[in-house]
Amino acid sequence: MAWEGIQGHDDVVAGFARAAARGRVAGAYLFIGDEGVGKATFAKRLARVLTCESPGSDFTACGRCSSCIQAAADSHPDIDIVAKPEERATIPIETFIGTPEHRMREGLCWRILLRPAIGQRKVAIILDADAISEEGANCLLKTLEEPPDASVLILVGTALERQLPTIRSRCKVVRFRPLSAAVIAEVLAAEGLGEESTRREAASAAAGSLARARLLVDADVVAFRRTLFGLLACRPFHGVEAGREITAVMEAAGKEAARRRPRLKLALELAIDFYRAGLRLAATGMEPGDPLLARAAGAWLRAGGTSEQADDHLRHTLEALQAIESNANLGMLIDAWTAVIERPRQGLLASG
Ligand SMILES: [Zn+2]
Repeated sequence: MAWEGIQGHDDVVAGFARAAARGRVAGAYLFIGDEGVGKATFAKRLARVLTCESPGSDFTACGRCSSCIQAAADSHPDIDIVAKPEERATIPIETFIGTPEHRMREGLCWRILLRPAIGQRKVAIILDADAISEEGANCLLKTLEEPPDASVLILVGTALERQLPTIRSRCKVVRFRPLSAAVIAEVLAAEGLGEESTRREAASAAAGSLARARLLVDADVVAFRRTLFGLLACRPFHGVEAGREITAVMEAAGKEAARRRPRLKLALELAIDFYRAGLRLAATGMEPGDPLLARAAGAWLRAGGTSEQADDHLRHTLEALQAIESNANLGMLIDAWTAVIERPRQGLLASG
């Protein structure tokens, strides 16, 4: 079963269609899957189908009823979408239960108790479920345990390990697979992004993430990827030069942190790809499928790279990636990361 515009997740659509046909739609779902595979888009589409006044027998929204029209305009009173504010490391509890002055007279947990304004059902979507704090989880427990009749809560996270056990145990987990390179290339083409050869390169380097492919299809970013792999392959590593290149590609995205952060994240993810490939090559002799990555990892190994070093760099780069998500200063993070790769002994925190 397929939904137009939702690629690569037909199995998940079919699962929901079966549940709906049997009247067994759960009260709380936890979507799990890598970033950029389309979980949030899927959640919004599901909300539209679940609130549609005359859904098709193939589990699609009719597109004509007043519910569908308001959903399409992002103004549906019964579809409630919340996310982590850009400048915060976690979702504030006010999002769930209102400000101290208006406790349980505003916020998602209060709104979901109200009668639906249009149809029979309310749907609440919590994006960035990875960023639910323990306090936030406590606010949600009662709603997750006893969701109001016919209401559906959808939490959108990445890895299951990143969810608090209290949340995990109260939701039905739905897993989203990484997208295939072919599906990604198809979507990029449909969106009119990039030339065919760039699309192919972006799709194969995207590790199943459409969001990442959309960044990679930019000509500047494609060029950056080549430069970065070249720099990572160099021994000794030139931290200042790498820092300059990363800063340039990040700043080219615009002035706002919200535009810069994904580019820095991408740079670190590419470095993670590189060190994983290096580690595998050093330890097992296995080459990565991506030719550019294979060449760079091979050069690094010939220059004397070892699996211990790759492992060490990998750990520091994962730490840096985590720091972006907890909202570190981006410029300082680049300095700290390049320094620790240049002189691994210091550790990321000691140098930052
Ligand atoms: Zn409809």
